Amino acid sequence: MHLTAETRLNAILDGTGAGTWEYNLDTGEIIFNERWATMLGYTLEELSPLSFQTWEKLSHPTDIESANQALTAYLSGDAHQFECVVRMLHKDGDWRYIHTRGTLFNNDQTAESRWLMGTHLDVTEEKVSQHQLQQLAESLPGVIYTFTLNKDGSFLFPYMSRKAKDFYGVTPAETRTHPERMFEAIHPEDVARVHETIELSRKTLREWVCEYRIMKDGQTRWLRGVSQPERNPDGSTTWHGVITDIDDQKRLEFQLEALTITDELTGLYNRRYLLRKLEELAEQSARYDHPFSLLSLDIDFFKSVNDSWGHLTGDKVLRKVASLIETRTRKTDIVARTGGEEFIVLMPHTTLSDARHVAESLRIGMETESFLSDDDTPFNVTLSAGVVCWSRHISRVRELLSACDQLLYQAKRAGRNQVVVSKIGAEKS
Ligand code: GH3
Ligand code: MG
Ligand code: MG
Repeated sequence: MHLTAETRLNAILDGTGAGTWEYNLDTGEIIFNERWATMLGYTLEELSPLSFQTWEKLSHPTDIESANQALTAYLSGDAHQFECVVRMLHKDGDWRYIHTRGTLFNNDQTAESRWLMGTHLDVTEEKVSQHQLQQLAESLPGVIYTFTLNKDGSFLFPYMSRKAKDFYGVTPAETRTHPERMFEAIHPEDVARVHETIELSRKTLREWVCEYRIMKDGQTRWLRGVSQPERNPDGSTTWHGVITDIDDQKRLEFQLEALTITDELTGLYNRRYLLRKLEELAEQSARYDHPFSLLSLDIDFFKSVNDSWGHLTGDKVLRKVASLIETRTRKTDIVARTGGEEFIVLMPHTTLSDARHVAESLRIGMETESFLSDDDTPFNVTLSAGVVCWSRHISRVRELLSACDQLLYQAKRAGRNQVVVSKIGAEKS
C-alpha cells in the first residue's frame, strides 16, 4: 500500500497525541486538526466557526499575554522558536497545561502566505508531578540537587531546589547561569576539601559525604552534603543528593569535644589532649626534622600546702600556677594539667636551650610569686622541672615522656626548686 505524506504525518501526530494548528498571520485564517479539539473535550464541529478567538476564549488571560510576548520574541528574531505553556479550559471545567510550539512557514516567499504552524500538547500530568516534586522539595529540611561534572572539568546544577537561597544565598536560577557561585559560598578553609572529596567520589563512584562551612551574610554555618554519583555515557558524572544544615549539631559536638579535652579545675588542656598533640607533633617533627621540646613541671611539697592551708587553697594555688604557666609560654605552646599538681608544656619548634629558658623563667616566676591562704597568710610555692627535646634517638612518644619524668625526678632528688635538662638533647642542641 502506498502511503501519502499526509497519511504518514497524521499517523505520526496521532502517535504523539499532539493537536496541530495553523495560523495565517496576514489573513487571520486558522486551521485546527480534530485532535486539537478532543484534547479539550470538544469536537471541531462544536467549536466552529473557528477563529483566533476560539483559542483566545479557551485560554487563561494571564497566559495569553505571555504567549503574545513569546510570539513577538519569535517574530522579531529574539527566540529561535515560538514556545510557551498556556492553560486552556477543558470542557469538563479543568484547566489543562498546553505546551505550544510553532514555526513560521513561508513556502512561496509571498507576504500573503505567512503561516505560523505548530502543535499543542497536553502536559498537565507532567506539570502536576513537577509541582508535587517541587512541593516535596520545599517541605524537606534540606537542599535537593543534582550536580553534573563534565570530563573537561566544567560543571552545572541541572536541578536545584529553592532552599539553596536560604542555605547558600544563591537562587536556583543563579545556579543555572553561574554554577560556580555554589562553590564561592563555601568557607575558604573548606573549599579544597570539598573539591577533593568530590574528585574521590567521581573516581570511585562511592557516595559523596562532606561536612563543610558556608559563608552567608557574614555568618558561618556548617552544612553536610550526601549524594550518590553515577557515570553518564559521555563520561561525565552526575550526583543526586541533599544538603542539610548541621550547624547546631556541629556546635554541640565542638562543645562536647572541648569538654573532653579540658581540665575542669584550671581550664588548661588535659592529659588526653596533650598525648594526642604529642603524637601529632612527633610525627610532624620526624617528617620535617623540626625540633620540639617538652617540659614536665611538678609543684614541690604540694601535699603540705593542702595540709597547712586546706584543699580549697590548694585548688587556688593550682589555678594560679596554671595561669602563670600560660602567661609565660607562647600561644602555640600546649599547656596541660596532666595530674594532681603536675603540668606538661609542649613547645613546637623549640630547641632545648630555649625550652630550658622557659622552664627557668617559670621556676623563678613561681618562687617569687606570693600566695595567700584563707586567713591572708602569705606563703610561697616552688616547682621542679624536667626538660627534654625531641630527637631521633627517642623514637617513641612514651620514651620521651618517661625521659622527661626521670629528669623531673632527678630535680626532686637534688633538692627541688630546680630545672634538669636532658643530656641527649643538650648534645644535640
Ligand atoms: P613532691 O615535692 O615530691 O612533688 O611532693 P608533693 O607533696 O607535691 O607530692 P605528692 O605526690 O606526695 O602529693 C601531691 C598532692 O597533691 C597530694 C594531693 O592531695 C594533692 N592534689 C592532687 N590533686 C589535687 C587537687 O585537685 N586539688 C588539691 N587541692 N590538691 C590536689
Ligand atoms: Mg609535687
Ligand atoms: Mg606529683
